[in-house]
Amino acid sequence: MIPLAVPNLTGNEKNYLEHCIDTTYVSSVGEYVSKLEQMTANATGSDFAVATSAGTTGLHAALTAVGVGPGDLVILPTFTFIASANAAAHCKAIPWLMDIDDTWCMDAGIVKEEIEKHCERKDGNLLHIDTGRRVAAIMPVYTLGNIPDMDQFRSIADDYDIPLVADAACAVGAKYKNSAFGSLADVSVLSFNGNKTITCGGGGMAVGNNERLLSHIRHLTTTSRVGVEYDFDMIGFNYRMTNIQAAVGCAQMERLHEFIAAKHRIRLFYEKQFKALKSIGISLFPMTEGSSCWFSGIVLPAASKLEDTRQIIQKLKERGIESRTFWKPVHLQEPYLSAHRSSVEKAESVWERIITLPCSTNITENELQFVAESLREIVTVNLITPVYNF
Ligand SMILES: *Cc1c(COP(=O)(O)O)cnc(C)c1O
Repeated sequence: MIPLAVPNLTGNEKNYLEHCIDTTYVSSVGEYVSKLEQMTANATGSDFAVATSAGTTGLHAALTAVGVGPGDLVILPTFTFIASANAAAHCKAIPWLMDIDDTWCMDAGIVKEEIEKHCERKDGNLLHIDTGRRVAAIMPVYTLGNIPDMDQFRSIADDYDIPLVADAACAVGAKYKNSAFGSLADVSVLSFNGNKTITCGGGGMAVGNNERLLSHIRHLTTTSRVGVEYDFDMIGFNYRMTNIQAAVGCAQMERLHEFIAAKHRIRLFYEKQFKALKSIGISLFPMTEGSSCWFSGIVLPAASKLEDTRQIIQKLKERGIESRTFWKPVHLQEPYLSAHRSSVEKAESVWERIITLPCSTNITENELQFVAESLREIVTVNLITPVYNF
């Protein structure tokens, strides 16, 4: 089976893990944790970085640190991995779901419109008029490693004095206007889960330039201990990363440029191979300038349904190729069926037609060729004897 996206662990991972065992530093204190924080700060152009146990826990801590609390609203895109919404829900806040634009990221224009239409300023807060709830954070998601119009999000956040927290979970290595993204939001959170471009097995990292904010996140994620005895000054979380996870992460980060280059090469390969499919309405994933191209794949023609997508995935599987559907929007998920939302037309019109294709950084040229040929055959045959109708 050609897998969808598997970790590439052929660097120093084993050496560093052995070092953890040999030195007994296997837990949440250790040189690799600080080293990975430094490496991630450098790679993201941030002054400060705090390692966490996962992207989700990093987001929860970040939202808590910027003051999101019970009953608040958090603005986020409906087209995202459910963890973005869960992080808000873990703060007992409520997601206010917005539609996406052509980059598959939250549409800044829609966010501005929705705020202008539904909110008022009162006592220094931005209140949602119908519910009286406070808008406590805006959380853009860097889908696929695409960075949306962060200049506009920054100006909305500044205009209304609302913190900007970026879900950069799948965006390690992404650039915005030729720079790393660490300074775009007040805090950005990365994930080092197994399917991400850089993995620790599991883990995450909060990055940013505001020392007070990042220190607060560190305090929150490390049980809020003060001093060396058993004294704690608030209800903290145990969201620390272990030295074992960080050891793997350090070995991975040493190869960041190589991995991003591989992701770009894969993207370019599919782009070339599927150029001709444009005439039957099949397109590639959107890609912003500087995108880190976390995943690659195709989008079926506008009239296609989830059933068509599933059939193609099944046919690829029969040939030994793993492919998958992508994020089902948050507003269609059981826990968020009644969440506040803007119109969600775009998200609804695209998610059922997405097929992610094999894009591991160690995929071979032959494997890529096989995926491309198989997919071409499958969609062409389906066109001649339509199992589904484009
Ligand atoms: C992977 C991912 C997360 C969750 O990160 P974990 O480390 O798995 O908790 C959150 N948001 C997005 C957009 C992701 O891709």
